Amino acid sequence: MTAQILSGREAADALLATLKPTVKNLDPKLVVVQVGDDPASTSYIKQKFKSCEAVGMRSSHIHLPENTTLETLMDTVAKLNADPDVTGFIVQVPLPAPLQSHIPEIIRAIDPKKDIDGFGAYNLGKMFLSTEFEHLPPATPGGIVALLEHYKIPIKGKHVVVVGRSNTVGKPVAIMLLNRDATVTVCHHHTQDLAAITRQADILIVAVGKFNLITGDMVKQGVVVIDVGMNKAEKGLAGDCDFETVAKKASAITPVPGGVGPMTVASLIRNCVRAKERQLQK
Ligand code: NAP
Repeated sequence: MTAQILSGREAADALLATLKPTVKNLDPKLVVVQVGDDPASTSYIKQKFKSCEAVGMRSSHIHLPENTTLETLMDTVAKLNADPDVTGFIVQVPLPAPLQSHIPEIIRAIDPKKDIDGFGAYNLGKMFLSTEFEHLPPATPGGIVALLEHYKIPIKGKHVVVVGRSNTVGKPVAIMLLNRDATVTVCHHHTQDLAAITRQADILIVAVGKFNLITGDMVKQGVVVIDVGMNKAEKGLAGDCDFETVAKKASAITPVPGGVGPMTVASLIRNCVRAKERQLQK
């Protein structure tokens, strides 16, 4: 079987193109707060601004020094909450070590109407209700669902196995697919006989962060594979799946890079547009 490559770049371009007219009309503004100079964060932020440019969205970068205190960061968050010109903002993670343990507190301080990363309890909680309340879903799960929709991959009635249960990827993507009538199994660290479960998947979503965790013998013929993982490998960036052996059995698979990554960015931009629409309604 030759697997179809699910290009996130192609699907993201298509999604961004649909947003362009609304961006022109509503003129939203996205702000990214960065603390310190983590190189991976700098590269992700560049991609976010590139996509903002592509849709004509205003954006701004607040770059704070590595030794920023919690007080200064919380003050920045409060100012962005209060600024009517700012539609939505994110605090780029990871944060420098002294701030990292305060992430829940920082997320709690972000106005839910401007929480375009969708990490706060209000936006996460609403997603549990139904698809109609998925206004600001976390960017990566939102991007994964948009990718499946772009390639017209049926979800209803399918057995989706999600490996990984983080609050930002695994759990919310499981809820979004349950909302779309999939039968969902979520696996984690303590799951017994992972391969026996992944072999049952019609759609396998892997969000762990372990190079080559999933190999060809762990999937069934015809599976659709969404590889969220981003790992530094010898040859560069690689996912959680052993692409060569898994792609031999899959009917469709995302590449790493160029799969979920671009969809995450496009989904963040879509959240900013949605935030503006909802702010204007109220
Ligand atoms: P995370 O918070 O570290 O969560 C990892 C999850 O994997 C945890 O739930 C953990 O289980 C589970 N896990 C660890 N080892 C396992 C194993 N051997 N078998 C089954 N489950 C196992 O990570 P995350 O933030 O969700 O990110 C996951 C990966 O996706 C990372 O590589 C990250 O860089 C990547 N990512 C990519 C994008 C993108 O846009 N492309 C966006 C976000 C994340 P426990 O809960 O039991 O510990």
